[in-house]
Amino acid sequence: MKELTYVRATSAAEAVEAVTDDPRAQYLGGGTNLTDHLKLGITTPEVLVDVSRLPLDTVEDTGTGLRIGAAVRNSDLAAHPVVRSDFPALSRALLAGASGQIRNQATTAGNLLQRTRCVYFQDPTTPCNKREPGSGCSAIEGYGRYNAVLGASEACVAVHPSDMAVAMSALDAQVVVLGAEGERRIPLEDLHRLPGHHPERDTTLAHGELITAVELSRSGAARTSTYEKARDRASYAFALVSVAAALELDGDRVADVRIAWGGAAHKPWRARTAEDLLRDGPLDEQRVRDAAAEELRAAATGPDSDYKVAMLTGITARALVRLSEATS
Ligand SMILES: Cc1cc2nc3c(=O)[nH]c(=O)nc-3n(C[C@H](O)[C@H](O)[C@H](O)COP(=O)(O)OP(=O)(O)OC[C@H]3O[C@@H](n4cnc5c(N)ncnc54)[C@H](O)[C@@H]3O)c2cc1C
Ligand code: SF4
Repeated sequence: MKELTYVRATSAAEAVEAVTDDPRAQYLGGGTNLTDHLKLGITTPEVLVDVSRLPLDTVEDTGTGLRIGAAVRNSDLAAHPVVRSDFPALSRALLAGASGQIRNQATTAGNLLQRTRCVYFQDPTTPCNKREPGSGCSAIEGYGRYNAVLGASEACVAVHPSDMAVAMSALDAQVVVLGAEGERRIPLEDLHRLPGHHPERDTTLAHGELITAVELSRSGAARTSTYEKARDRASYAFALVSVAAALELDGDRVADVRIAWGGAAHKPWRARTAEDLLRDGPLDEQRVRDAAAEELRAAATGPDSDYKVAMLTGITARALVRLSEATS
C-alpha cells in the first residue's frame, strides 16, 4: 500500500501554493479519472490537493456569456438553462459522455484534464512513451482502431478523450488559470498539445497551475450548435470520432461556422481549413464533405483507423446540414 497525504484546499491561492511548491503534489477534482490512475500506478503523487470543494462551483451569466467555475459538476453544467439554450453543443457533449453517476461527480476542470484512454497507456505492463518517456509506443504497431489520424507523432498516436473539450473548442472557450505568477487566459484550442517528442505532456499548463474557470461568449453560431458522437455502444462509451459544429447563416450564405473534431487527434482538432472553405458560401452536404476532405488531406491512417476519415466526413456533413435546416 502506498501512503498519500490528502489536503483539502480552502482557497484557490492556497491550492496553487501547495502544488507549485511540491513536485510530488497533484490536484484532485471529482477523482473519477485520477483515482483509476492511482490504483493502476500510472501516476504516483504523494500529496493530493482536493480542489473539488473550492468556491468555484457556480455558473455566472456575465451578460456577454458564461463564466463556468472549475468545480461545477458535469451534470449541473449540462442541465444549466443558459447552456442548453445558448450553447447547446456543450450540453449535448456532456450528456454524450460517461454515465449519470460519473457526471454527477466529475468537474469541469477535471473533465478537461482527463487523460487518454489508450489501452496501452492504461496497462503498466506495456511500453508507453506517455506513461514512461523513452519506453516506446505500443499502439503504433499494436491495436490501432482508436489511434489518432491527425497530428500524431512517432512517439505517440493517442487521442484526447473528452467530449466536453471538443464542444468547448468549437465554442471558442477561454480557460482561466491561476499560477504562482498570477492569472492568465488560454484559448481552449491552445490548452491541449500535440504529442511531438513529448507525449508525456498533455497540456500547456505548468506544474501547479490551477484551472479556476472556463469562459464562453454568446454568439449566433454558439446558439445554433450541436454535438454528434459515433461510438461502439449507444451510451457509456468513448468517441470513435465526434464533431462539435456551430453555424450562423446570413440568408443562404455561411456567416460563421465552427468545427471541432474528437477522436481524431491528441487534442480537440479545430478544423480551421474546412471552416475557411465553408465561410461566405452556401451550405450544402457536398460542400461540407469537400471541406472536410481538404482538412483530412494530411490524415495518416493505418488499416484499423482509416474508417475514421469517412466517419469524420460523414458526421460533420450530417451535423452541419441539420443545423442549416434548423435555422432556415
Ligand atoms: C467508465 C467511464 C466512462 C467515461 N466515459 C466518458 C466519455 O464517454 N466521454 C468523456 O468525455 N469522458 C468520459 N469519462 C471520463 C470522465 O468524464 C472523467 O473521468 C471526468 O470528467 C474527470 O473529472 P474529475 O473531476 O473526476 O477529474 P479528476 O479525476 O479529479 O482529475 C483529472 C485530472 O485533472 C486534474 N485537475 C482536476 N481539477 C483541476 C484543476 N482545477 N486545475 C488543474 N488540474 C486539475 C487532476 O490533477 C487530474 O490530473 C468516463 C469515465 C469513466 C470512469
Ligand atoms: S499511443 Fe501514446 S499513450 Fe498510447 S501507447 Fe503510444 S505513447 Fe502510450
